[in-house]
Amino acid sequence: MSKKNQSKADAYSFFSCIEKNFDKAARYIPIKKGLLEQIKACNAVYRMHFPIKIGKEIQVIEAYRVQHSHHKLPCKGGIRYSIKVNQDEVMTLAALMTYKCAIVDVPFGGAKGGIKIDPQIISVENIEKITRRYTSELIKKNFIGPGIDVPAPDYGTGEREMSWIFDTFLSLTHGEVDAIACVTGKPVSQGGVRGRKEATGLGVFYGIRELCKMKEEMLSVGLDVGLNGKKVIIQGLGNVGYHAAKFFHDAGAIIVALAEREGAIYNKKGLNVSNVIIHLKNTGSILNFPESKNIEDTEKALELECDILIPAALENVIHKYNANRIKAKIIGEAANGPVTPEADDILGKKGVIIVPDIYLNAGGVTVSYFEWLKNLSHVRYGRMEKRFSENMNTELLQVIENSCKKKIPIEEKKMILRGPREIDLVRSGLEDTMINGFHKIRDLKKSLKIENLRIAAFVLAINKIIDSYEKLGIFP
Ligand code: NAD
Repeated sequence: MSKKNQSKADAYSFFSCIEKNFDKAARYIPIKKGLLEQIKACNAVYRMHFPIKIGKEIQVIEAYRVQHSHHKLPCKGGIRYSIKVNQDEVMTLAALMTYKCAIVDVPFGGAKGGIKIDPQIISVENIEKITRRYTSELIKKNFIGPGIDVPAPDYGTGEREMSWIFDTFLSLTHGEVDAIACVTGKPVSQGGVRGRKEATGLGVFYGIRELCKMKEEMLSVGLDVGLNGKKVIIQGLGNVGYHAAKFFHDAGAIIVALAEREGAIYNKKGLNVSNVIIHLKNTGSILNFPESKNIEDTEKALELECDILIPAALENVIHKYNANRIKAKIIGEAANGPVTPEADDILGKKGVIIVPDIYLNAGGVTVSYFEWLKNLSHVRYGRMEKRFSENMNTELLQVIENSCKKKIPIEEKKMILRGPREIDLVRSGLEDTMINGFHKIRDLKKSLKIENLRIAAFVLAINKIIDSYEKLGIFP
């Protein structure tokens, strides 16, 4: 983001954006104000400073963990490493997690963590030191644990950091049998679940694919039903953006532009995402990718002609100063908070369909939930039933072949006989979750005549949290 636009977008509180949406949603919920205030507020904010020795110098690190809601435990939410991390941002992201979990029926309260560092200019050794020290601070204050608060990856973090968190937790809480469930997004060899890495991007794909199946919505924006041939722009080629791009490409959509920090690339015939990644690895930049046009001002990529725009980098990238120039008919919020409330209003008036972050990027936490369940059960998904299913299928097929007096071709047979592997079960659970979530939001929007999908998603989430509070009661 250019300095000029950054100051425009940073001019107001990110948390107040969520509060505005919450208040709009509250108009559809006939309930006492007190409970709504409780749902809105952050339950616990832990701001810390700790020293790290870098060479001969001592550097003070600022970090946060916010638990937005304790209506369900453990709390759950990623950890972000970015120089822009601040309390308002972490509180907002924690609140989004509460609503997100409620929408996709993941039984957690929302949380988020952040460390104010730029991982791009810090050595791996020092990132490890900072991660381990941060984890030990969380342990000291009882802000991490399989039944307390379970972090995961977010912007600037990944499997590597989650492994360090797990190892630190294991070292400092010796003998805890469920220690492995203290963090998700771990590598598979360290108790991670197959399918977690790509889960958020795949969830984004499933959500947009479902929207594109809806005749009514596609008619409203003048598009054909289906994803095939739709022009897509993706901002941010990190974990979420890269996987989303790959799934859209594989489904026949045309990725016309990709935007990164250093600039964007454009080809109206389409970019091959895997080749762009190879080019990025070889040259350190997406720019100068063969047969594509460079766009120096990366933000301008958001304004190019396309059907679907997927911001998958950071918040506030679509604001009141560029919203009018956005040409996309559908915006899929893969990042958290990429569209400011002012931009939301402008785009709404233009008839753009915005699929909100609190639903669309919930694939990550959904599969994190599957990982947590796997860790608590200490057994890989599919381990108990794979062979059993294959044996049952074989017998069934034999009965069919015998009664039909016909042999099924070997390739087809292999497909039918195959028992479920972990990745099959995880993806099927994710797909089901994203499809159900979309229809619950859409149905609610229609039945209550709610202005857009974002507010409908908030109504859905708040109603579920209210239900939880009402059944739990209030202590004491
Ligand atoms: P990441 O660090 O893996 O990737 C972010 C990418 O955005 C990087 O490649 C970075 O270079 C790029 N980027 C940064 N500034 C940019 C700019 N101005 N223009 C274009 N590109 C820019 O992070 P991620 O995990 O993919 O997260 C991206 C977003 O998705 C964040 O908003 C995050 O909160 C959200 N999210 C992530 C997950 C997850 O599972 N990782 C889950 C839910 C939501």
